Amino acid sequence: MRKKIVAGNWKMNMTPSEAVKLVNELKCKSYSKDVEVVFCVPAIDIVPVAEALKGTSIKVGAENMYYEEKGAFTGEISPDMLTDAGVSYVILGHSERRQYFGEDDDCVNRKVRKAIEHNIIPIICCGETIQQREEGITLDFIKSQIVGAFQQVSPKNAAECVIAYEPIWAIGTGRVATSQQAQDVCEAIRLNIRELYGEEVASSIRILYGGSVNACNAAELFAQEDIDGGLVGGASLKPDFADIVNYK
Ligand code: PGA
Repeated sequence: MRKKIVAGNWKMNMTPSEAVKLVNELKCKSYSKDVEVVFCVPAIDIVPVAEALKGTSIKVGAENMYYEEKGAFTGEISPDMLTDAGVSYVILGHSERRQYFGEDDDCVNRKVRKAIEHNIIPIICCGETIQQREEGITLDFIKSQIVGAFQQVSPKNAAECVIAYEPIWAIGTGRVATSQQAQDVCEAIRLNIRELYGEEVASSIRILYGGSVNACNAAELFAQEDIDGGLVGGASLKPDFADIVNYK
C-alpha cells in the first residue's frame, strides 16, 4: 500500500517572516495520519520553516538544488546545505525551472542522482504543454522526461523517488485536469517505470498529480488508482490546505 503524500509548493511567494506566520497558522490544523505532508519552500525560508515545524510530523522540502557538492557556484544551494537545514524532499525539474531557467532532462537527472546520494527524496516533475496535448504526443513526451530523469538510477533508489505529473496548462490556471486525464497519464507513467524497473518498483513508486489542486477537487483526483497524492501550489498557501490533506 503506497502512503499518500500532499506536498505544498510555495514558489516565490513568502518572505521568511511571512513563511513563519503561515506555518504557525497551518501547523495548528489537524492532518490525517495516513497522509505524508511536506512543505516545499524557497531556500531562504527553509531554516525558519524547519524551526517552526519542530515537534510536528510535517516535513520540509526544497524547491530546487544544485547537482555539485560545493565550490564556486554563486547563488546555488548544495545537497549538504539542504540536509543540514532539515530538508528531506526536493522538487526537481518543475516546469517553471525547465521553462524559465533552462533545465533540461540531463540537468534534472544529475540533480536526481545527487539528491538520492544525500538521502533527499526527489519529487521529479513532468508534464506536457497544451500544444503537446492537442497534438496527441503527451504520453511520448512524458515518457521521454521519465526516461531522462531516471538515467543511471538503480531500481532500489527509483522505488524511493516521487514523481509529480503536472500538465503545464493546469498549473496556476485554475484549469484542473479531469480526474480521468490525470489518471490516464499517471497510469502511463507507472507503465514507463515498469518497463524501466519491473513490477515491484512500479507498484511502490509514488506518483502525484499537480496543477490547480484545491480542497474541492482533491478527493476525486486522489481517489484514482495511480494517483498517490498531490503537489499543490496556490492552494498550499491557504488555511484550507488542511482540507486537501484530509481529503477523505
Ligand atoms: P498550482 O501549482 O497548484 O498553483 O497549479 C502547482 C505546482 O506548480 O506545483
